[in-house]
Amino acid sequence: MEFHLAVPRLPPALCSNTKGGLHRIMDYIFLLYLNVFLFRSCSASPPNFVLLFADDLGFGDLGCYGHPSSLTPNLDRLAAGGLRFTDFYCTSPVCSPSRASLLTGRYQTRSGVYPGVLYPSSKGGLPLNETTIAEVLKPLGYATAAIGKWHLGVGANGKYLPTRQGFDEYLGIPYSHDMGPCYNLTCFPPDVKCFGLCDVGTVTVPLMHNEIIKQQPVNFLDLERAYSDFATSFISTAVKKNQPFFLYYPSHHTHYPQYAGPGAAWRTSRGKFGDALFEFDTTIGNIMTTLEKTGAINNTLIFFTADNGPELMRMSRGGNAGPLKCGKGTTYEGGMREPAIAFWPGTIKPGVTHEIASTLDILPTIASLSGAKLPQVVLDGVDMTDLLIYQQKSKRETMMFYPTDPSEMYGLFALRLGNYKAHFYTRGATHSGTTPDQACPVFAVLKAHDPPLLFDLEADPSENYPLLLADRPDLQALLERIKKVKEQFEALMVFGESQMLKGEDPNLEPCCNPQCNPKPSCCHC
Ligand code: MG
Repeated sequence: MEFHLAVPRLPPALCSNTKGGLHRIMDYIFLLYLNVFLFRSCSASPPNFVLLFADDLGFGDLGCYGHPSSLTPNLDRLAAGGLRFTDFYCTSPVCSPSRASLLTGRYQTRSGVYPGVLYPSSKGGLPLNETTIAEVLKPLGYATAAIGKWHLGVGANGKYLPTRQGFDEYLGIPYSHDMGPCYNLTCFPPDVKCFGLCDVGTVTVPLMHNEIIKQQPVNFLDLERAYSDFATSFISTAVKKNQPFFLYYPSHHTHYPQYAGPGAAWRTSRGKFGDALFEFDTTIGNIMTTLEKTGAINNTLIFFTADNGPELMRMSRGGNAGPLKCGKGTTYEGGMREPAIAFWPGTIKPGVTHEIASTLDILPTIASLSGAKLPQVVLDGVDMTDLLIYQQKSKRETMMFYPTDPSEMYGLFALRLGNYKAHFYTRGATHSGTTPDQACPVFAVLKAHDPPLLFDLEADPSENYPLLLADRPDLQALLERIKKVKEQFEALMVFGESQMLKGEDPNLEPCCNPQCNPKPSCCHC
């Protein structure tokens, strides 16, 4: 018999170690008293984790975040049955740095995954001495798999691939799917050409299984089915073996060029972006069905969010930041505030939270829930367990905003403290072009603000109306505090060696026929 009650299952760490968690134990005893006949004991096995990560998805893109024509029934189901965040942040307005932070719990400045993003021929990648979520869980016997867009480096002999960063298995495109010629990318039906140019002069986009190229060029129209089959098979196998698992699924959707395979093409009224999002949502549905069928759903935390804001330069084909200002490439809210949902039936109570949280917090939270040891490094994330399970305040009071090209010279572009956000620098971005807001496109050049541009994000989430000290002298003390927090944070920030500035070598581009000639056209298998 199944019970779907919001009775917290004590994380294994608390089952074995109550130090510092007395109040949580008291909460738990109270809930047990209320549900005495429906007692759910301490979990014998640690929880499973499914981390779903969309690409270039805006705050306003999901049905459950108010988009009128997106079709996201499964994400909406997660939101309805889970905790939906309104103030959740990634750490960078572009892909690679954001992913580095998600997997390490550290700002990208520490790991060196900046400036910009990695390319197929990049010499660098997420440094191997960084500890990923997968590496945190491996000592506990977790099965770990990554599917989809890695974008944390390939390197010589695949030295930066997921299989070198704690993942047992990997299936996916190791970077963005526009990092190769688009000529093989067609919509369904296959004779309909979708797009113009992507990156020309490089190898076609490969599909990798672990460290081997399985297909080059990848069959885009069949890709989502391959991911879905891989994900559901991975879960079923782990459950059969009675092994806890961590599935990381960073999707290539909804990055440019947006498209969908036969199962989702033309299915939404929103066009290509809507179809791409719906295709990802369908796989999420397949994953949920597998979790339900295998009986793992009640012992699994599903977490959904995205790497950075919408690429507004694609106009109606790009994403939507909803009420937030600008999008990808900028440190305005639209570039870095993302939809986020935590779903764990019977453990996380359905609702909406306005607490500040970040991708940085996922690693410490997973470590806490599983009972894993934290890496012995400076972490920027905080444990969200109390927020997720006990509806308590977040331990996070601040969020730091680095631009796409962080530097010690400029430091933070913006800082959020409580409800207030101060911009020390602002700049538009190519990725955020085409909007009527003059602050967003690349023509809005770097501008320093002293005193900083200050916004009350509760009253003005669109960052349209800066607060003026002349009108509000009471804000002086707040500004001083923000400056102090910034100073303290920057004093302790140690910039890692830039991985992107290591440069590129065309010989590093993944080729299924490495000795062939002439490249890149001969890399075709
Ligand atoms: Mg992205």
